[in-house]
Amino acid sequence: MIEFENITFIYDNKPLMQHFSCCIEEGEKVVLYGPSGHGKSTLLASIAGFVRPDEGTIRIDGKRLDPTTVQQVRKEIAWLPQEFTLPFDTVEALIEAPFDLRANQSAKPSVATIMSHFTRLGLDEELYEKRTIEISGGQRQRIMLMIAALLRKKIVLLDEPTSALDPHAISLVVNYIQAMQGTTVVMVSHDARFIESFDRKIYIGD
Ligand code: ADP
Ligand code: MG
Repeated sequence: MIEFENITFIYDNKPLMQHFSCCIEEGEKVVLYGPSGHGKSTLLASIAGFVRPDEGTIRIDGKRLDPTTVQQVRKEIAWLPQEFTLPFDTVEALIEAPFDLRANQSAKPSVATIMSHFTRLGLDEELYEKRTIEISGGQRQRIMLMIAALLRKKIVLLDEPTSALDPHAISLVVNYIQAMQGTTVVMVSHDARFIESFDRKIYIGD
């Protein structure tokens, strides 16, 4: 369970978000939506402790997020930010690397497992052999989503994971996320039209 209690973010003396409270249940699939620049990404990053609110408390499974608990809490979380550079040369290395980290205890997926996930996400098998500079933004978003899912964390945070996708690919991604049973998924999107099937939509805006 993720609890936001009275959360306020302030930048340059201006409140970005004020007194936000909300509770996300275990296994719930939630979309944060609304216009750009109103704090969706900031709120998402705060769940993994990458941003600290200026006021208020965040609790993950009853544990208050603070400098003494953040490392432990992060082990249960996969966070896919909106923008980042890919640190690996090949798609194969990109997919394998997170499973070698000590914080991630899930077993490395077999190539057969990866191929079945590729199919579900509308990705070509040949992609696995490619260099990361050769893949498109939409392919990259789906590969990163797959990695987040295969890590089998309790909580998955997705920041606009469909921004580079066409409607067909978006529907594949929505089905894919729905199939992550038991996983709490918090996803930012400013286009909530495609996400009607999620358990809840939370508007972040004026
Ligand atoms: P959204 O995801 O809804 O588009 P963001 O969470 O990215 O919104 O943040 C909205 C605004 O908050 C940014 O445009 C910026 O003005 C401000 N902001 C966010 N993070 C910082 C930061 N670390 N320093 C200064 N301003 C920030
Ligand atoms: Mg954002």
